[in-house]
Amino acid sequence: MQSFGFIELLAIAQTVVYLLVAVLALWRQKAQPHQALYALVSVLWLAAQLALIQGWLPFLLDDFTARLPLYGLLLLAVTLLWFARAYLSVQEGSWGWRLIGLAWIATLLLVDSNLVAVPEEMWFRGGLMLPRDNFIVGGIVLGWCFFTGAATLMTLLVYRRTRQPLQRNRIRYLAAVLFLVFTGEAVFLFAYWSLGSLLHLSGVLVGAYATLNARLPSFRRAVLRSLSYLITSGLALLFYLAALMLSYATLRATGEANLWLVGLVLAAALAVFFTPLLGQAQKWLDRLIAGVSHDPALILRQYSQTISNILDLGLLAKVVTELIGQALDIPRSYLFAVSHEKDSEGHNSYRLSEVMDEGGDEPKDIILAEASTLCDYLHHQRGPLTQSEIDSSPRFAEITPDERGWLLDLQMELFVPIHSKDEWIGLLALGPKNSGEPFWDDDQSLLASLADQTAVALENARLVESLVRLNNDFRRAIAALDQANRNLERLDRTKTEFISVASHELRTPLTLINGYSQVLMEEPSLAGNANYAKMISGIHSGAQRLQEVLESMLDMAKIDTRELQLNLQTVHMGELIESLRAEFDTALQERNQKFETVDLASLRSIQADREALRKVFYHLLVNAIKYTPDGGKIAVSGRAVLPSKDTLIESGVEIIVSDTGIGIDPSLHDVIFTKFYQTSDLALHSSGKTKFKGAGSGLGLAIAKGIVDAHFGRIWVESEGYDETRCPGSQFHVFLPLRHPEKTRPKAAI
Ligand code: ADP
Repeated sequence: MQSFGFIELLAIAQTVVYLLVAVLALWRQKAQPHQALYALVSVLWLAAQLALIQGWLPFLLDDFTARLPLYGLLLLAVTLLWFARAYLSVQEGSWGWRLIGLAWIATLLLVDSNLVAVPEEMWFRGGLMLPRDNFIVGGIVLGWCFFTGAATLMTLLVYRRTRQPLQRNRIRYLAAVLFLVFTGEAVFLFAYWSLGSLLHLSGVLVGAYATLNARLPSFRRAVLRSLSYLITSGLALLFYLAALMLSYATLRATGEANLWLVGLVLAAALAVFFTPLLGQAQKWLDRLIAGVSHDPALILRQYSQTISNILDLGLLAKVVTELIGQALDIPRSYLFAVSHEKDSEGHNSYRLSEVMDEGGDEPKDIILAEASTLCDYLHHQRGPLTQSEIDSSPRFAEITPDERGWLLDLQMELFVPIHSKDEWIGLLALGPKNSGEPFWDDDQSLLASLADQTAVALENARLVESLVRLNNDFRRAIAALDQANRNLERLDRTKTEFISVASHELRTPLTLINGYSQVLMEEPSLAGNANYAKMISGIHSGAQRLQEVLESMLDMAKIDTRELQLNLQTVHMGELIESLRAEFDTALQERNQKFETVDLASLRSIQADREALRKVFYHLLVNAIKYTPDGGKIAVSGRAVLPSKDTLIESGVEIIVSDTGIGIDPSLHDVIFTKFYQTSDLALHSSGKTKFKGAGSGLGLAIAKGIVDAHFGRIWVESEGYDETRCPGSQFHVFLPLRHPEKTRPKAAI
């Protein structure tokens, strides 16, 4: 056994690296056996080299031992073909390749080992001879060329067939592996062992990097970066070398005494110049080799400045897709707004609808169920997702046909979700780049940052859009209400016109009936007959009641059409109520009701239309008598109202008509003042106007309010509620100003 030299140490170091690669390849969640096997065969190959150098296998023939590394090479070539097929996902189908390879090696071994009797000179004809040894070495080299060529050819074919940029990038890595490994092995064949095995090792390392990394950076860029790294390292080496030589020369010139000084000067020079110089060199190199690439910080700043003020969703989508398109050279992209929905069964889902300024060939909406893998990834993982990942990752194998169809229609290459806090609000879908290059990691992280910047603008634009939609809904509702109002007004006018025409038309025949019934009542021949007298008095009182109703209808029509003319004069409320009381004497007696007036005499006179106010209190008193059971009490009281600046009340009088009647539900306190409103069922009305709960037209309070309003007064009711057994009573308040404001305010409402 020989002692350990440089080659042996190198071989051991390489073995350690190969073993590490094998362990890593097997240890990974998705184990890569082909990668591990290739590394292990490489170890065998190294072992064969060591065995040859160290003479570990003395029992074997020298010739055979010398050929062991060559056998190793052949085995490597066969294994590499297998590795390449697995890497390219070429369907294995059969064990054909491997069997051919193993049979090839086995045949050569058989011939080599003399197990089958083969003559030393295998072929001899016309002066040409093929020795057995040459046959074996030739067989090995031929096999190596064959399998190596097969792997190269297959890689080339698959590369030409592949359109996917990311996939093509992956294959470029394999091409690099093949190149390094084959060059290494070829160099090895020409007996440059160390260089060959190192090249081989670097090929295996590139292969391991490519198989163990799901996301590979651009191969072109990786090569350029390594090149730039190599050059800068070379530069640094030169720099140090120059410094060393300089110091050596200086020391020789100045003598050892200045050792510290020279060291100090050189160290200072290195510290001051070296780093910036190297940095500058690195920059030049980057620019020279890799070309000018985009500046993410600048793009981000410009992007957020441009979109921050856009509040229109369509415009935002247009600007966002344009800016991203310019920055990354992408001709086609979409912005989707994502809205949370619940389907009919209550399951959460997300609707993705494309936001575009104007119509065109915009993609369809899609609804993603929350449970779907696609939704789960975009919503919860939040990171960018490539179409090739969807196509190749087993995780997305089960996406629904709908989702697959939608993705197929879109023809996009990258999807970047947009989140605002915990909510998923949008999706950027980006088509292939003009250059045909895939989206690299740095592109993806730039796009993820751009998506973050878009979130606020998108949320604002969506809020504004929903506000605008709400506003439009409101406008539509207001327009509809307006229309309904106009219709109601028209209806009301028609009603008033009808009341006015009908009461005018009925007035003449009614006057005739009234007049003739009066004549008939006074006719002595008929008055003697009790039967006739009763009938005639019935006709007369009916006609009079009708007359009153007609009068009320006419009053109402006048109020509605604002034709009510006030004949203003001095009115004393005490006198007015006294005169009305005389009118109700009979009714009060019939109903056994008490009537009293309180503090009316002391009230100041007011300026008002006496006849009109008479009507107001007539209706109030009729109601008080009508809605108070027999034996009840009706009171009319008055009080002076003093002006107040706080409540803007003018001085006037307030008359309160109270009864001990059935009362009024508080919810109806306003509505009873509208015309034709009656709380009780019409069919239950008893006939006479002062009978308990007797008939009424439903106009009394509306007329009273119309007249009080015309006087710039106020009328309202107070009552605990409606209760026919307890009879809580009601109090009708009428406030009238002392002076009619028309005299003091020229622009009065009436
Ligand atoms: P009506 O001709 O039916 O009396 P009004 O306009 O005078 O019409 O009154 C409207 C409604 O207000 C009445 O139908 C009645 O239900 C209620 N009402 C008016 N005055 C009183 C009162 N003093 N006590 C109880 N209810 C009253």
